[in-house]
Amino acid sequence: MAELGKFASRAEQLDKRDPLSSVRSEFILSEQEIYLDGNSLGPVTGRTLECVQQTVQQEWAKGLIRSWNEHWIRLPQETGSKIAPLVGAASENIICADSVSINIFKLLAASIQASPDRTNIVSIEGMFPTDLYMAEGLQQLVGSNRCQLKVVPLENLERALSNNANTLLMSQVNFRSGEAYSVEAFTALAHQYGARILWDLSHSVGVLPIDLEQNKVDFAVGCGYKFLNGGPGAPAFLYVSPELQTKLSQPLSGWMGHRDPFQFNPTYDPAVGMDHYLTGTQGILGLSALSAALEVWESIKLKDVYKKAQSLTALFIDAIGDDFNVIKPEQRGSQVSIAHDRAFPISQALIDEGIICDFRAPNLIRFGFAPLYIRYQDVVTTVEQLNNIVQTRRYEHPKYQITNTVT
Ligand SMILES: *Cc1c(COP(=O)(O)O)cnc(C)c1O
Repeated sequence: MAELGKFASRAEQLDKRDPLSSVRSEFILSEQEIYLDGNSLGPVTGRTLECVQQTVQQEWAKGLIRSWNEHWIRLPQETGSKIAPLVGAASENIICADSVSINIFKLLAASIQASPDRTNIVSIEGMFPTDLYMAEGLQQLVGSNRCQLKVVPLENLERALSNNANTLLMSQVNFRSGEAYSVEAFTALAHQYGARILWDLSHSVGVLPIDLEQNKVDFAVGCGYKFLNGGPGAPAFLYVSPELQTKLSQPLSGWMGHRDPFQFNPTYDPAVGMDHYLTGTQGILGLSALSAALEVWESIKLKDVYKKAQSLTALFIDAIGDDFNVIKPEQRGSQVSIAHDRAFPISQALIDEGIICDFRAPNLIRFGFAPLYIRYQDVVTTVEQLNNIVQTRRYEHPKYQITNTVT
């Protein structure tokens, strides 16, 4: 096992010079724990707690139905405009609504309907399953003569794109390996073959620089509850390029996507712009939590966040050394995974020590390093505990073998 002393002093120096060090105090975190699951469920900020309380106690309890006009009806647009600068989009091109899965369905269906001569939705192996499940569901609904999902190994991507491709469906960061893919390169590749691209930014928004408009991305979706800290089941967001917004028609044509919902017309007439991509009434408690969580970004430079993400993960990889099978993609997001035969019980023993990581079947321990509140010293402590648990074989205890529904 590597000597950790020199990494501890490197961490101390890095913490001292960290331009984001004061942001940690915005979050409600236990000093007895190191939270390395911000890539799965971000923690709550003090501001969020206050804001949700305000929404319930004032806006709902006192304002009642009047609060729709006073506070709530534009919340999907207003929350979207807070996400816009994080993904390089103009505020009117993003809206917050529904879940990532549902937004993927809306966008893929709209894209298939708009170009019926191109039937294939292309993706590469290893993408997040729900994204692929939604494409499968669409294929079943419209029939495989109109829509087919093609999942191929990365090396066969060009061949798949050259064959009737409608949309390339990509995650910017692979949820298992942490590998990051170039938005610029894959978008250009899809366009070269006349296909559109849908980026899933769930594991990258809030840690990687993203420039949707500069790269002429067609569609994007992303998660509100991971690095954006919007809370369990927070609403997701979606982006549609300005050229496509009016050209396409999404099939979940609920009243909130109508041009004038409160005229209660018997037939659907789509709203202009992103409003059309809404379906029904949104969960206001969830939206207000996400909206409050996004306030933390007002004083932060994304460049600093990206730099810290890369240097936290680099410190982790260096400090772990060669004793573990660390997955090291060429480009990475803000997470690192270790492959180990006993990944599950080791992850449970780490959690027992207050190091909250997670397990992804069949053999990965994932560590998410959220730059807004993880310190460099936390990285070294994690490596120390991991070494200790493996050396002492503490993970063999029967209590660490018990599995649960959510991992
Ligand atoms: C977390 C995540 C989702 C979550 O989808 P929901 O429908 O919002 O539950 C989807 N795709 C990716 C890539 C994710 O990381």
